[in-house]
Amino acid sequence: MSYRIPLSFPVFEGNEKTYTEKAIASGNLATYGAFINKFEHKLSKKTKTHQAVAINSGTSALHLAMILLGIGPGDEVICQSFTFCASANPIVYLGAKPIFVDSETDTWNISPEILEDAILSRIAAGKKPKAIVLVHLFGMPAKINEILNVANKYHIPILEDAAEAVGSQYQGNACGTFGTIGIYSFNGNKIITSGGGGAIVSNNTKIIQKAAHLSTQAREDLPYYQHLEIGFNYKMNNLAAAIGLAQLEQLDDLVSKRRKINNIYRELFSKVPGISFQDEDKLSRSNYWLTTIIIDEETTGLKNDRIRLLLLEKGIETRFLWKPLHLQPIFKDVPFYGGDFAQNMFETGLCLPSSSNLTFDQQEEIVELIEREISKTYR
Ligand SMILES: *Cc1c(COP(=O)(O)O)cnc(C)c1O
Repeated sequence: MSYRIPLSFPVFEGNEKTYTEKAIASGNLATYGAFINKFEHKLSKKTKTHQAVAINSGTSALHLAMILLGIGPGDEVICQSFTFCASANPIVYLGAKPIFVDSETDTWNISPEILEDAILSRIAAGKKPKAIVLVHLFGMPAKINEILNVANKYHIPILEDAAEAVGSQYQGNACGTFGTIGIYSFNGNKIITSGGGGAIVSNNTKIIQKAAHLSTQAREDLPYYQHLEIGFNYKMNNLAAAIGLAQLEQLDDLVSKRRKINNIYRELFSKVPGISFQDEDKLSRSNYWLTTIIIDEETTGLKNDRIRLLLLEKGIETRFLWKPLHLQPIFKDVPFYGGDFAQNMFETGLCLPSSSNLTFDQQEEIVELIEREISKTYR
């Protein structure tokens, strides 16, 4: 289905064409090639990490990262509940058990207090969690300092799922670089895309070398094929890296455009009662990949789905916020710590069109449609 105003559409206004033509001319389209190296180098420079490994998706990056953290059968892994299923699925791939934790009300990311309660409860039950999956939802940095304090207190490593937070910062440093390992996604509708793709970043050289090795079938450096471990075909290909590099060159510009879009929505909604936003912590700078609103039903008389359908009629794409994982039928038996915060956000929130090329007029149209509907139910 194509929309007149899509939720998040990629723009290719840089070197995408030039680089892909070069990649094709080089004949290297698979998992070795100049663009992969350039992409990894540029990403590690941008994130000020020791090294980055380009991976074929955010999900495979999470899977590899969990292997690198030594997660295996029977282990328990704490994961933010308010997220996309790919944050938790790799826990299950490895025969480990997810433990879901609710979010706090400011950034909508994992609550440091509930996190500590969950850790203490699991330790009391006889098993210390093996890792914590921290998400920066819709690009909004979590309360990283508070979460690091808890993780360090119990010596539990953090895996940062920064899939949505490419270009987001906390205390001036890139999201994805605070945990033991961080991952990014460059899937089609993320803030920058390589078609499909992901990356692993870490300041631990051993982790990075192992990630590179395992992602290319764990092939030993010998003239014949020799393997000491089970590997994966998880490396990014050179054609994707060509697009990814061109997109990465425009990241700063794309972040400032999405931030501006968020700002305009805030201004346009400022006189509309019952609409609120996801807010930055004073230390954080979101990439505002998606602008999301919460619609207070008591004030507006409207449910989020009513607004979704109203905009859909006009060819405007919006989306529900992620349905929390503890409410997913597939995870119904997974332990959950927290209350109804994430559930409330899911039931009242909506992601608004946030493409970097969204125009002011389009934003005005969207806000006016919502405002008019609210004033109708008022009367
Ligand atoms: C998109 C996304 C992923 C998965 O990335 P893919 O590249 O689509 O595999 C993981 N976690 C979160 C929070 C995401 O939004």
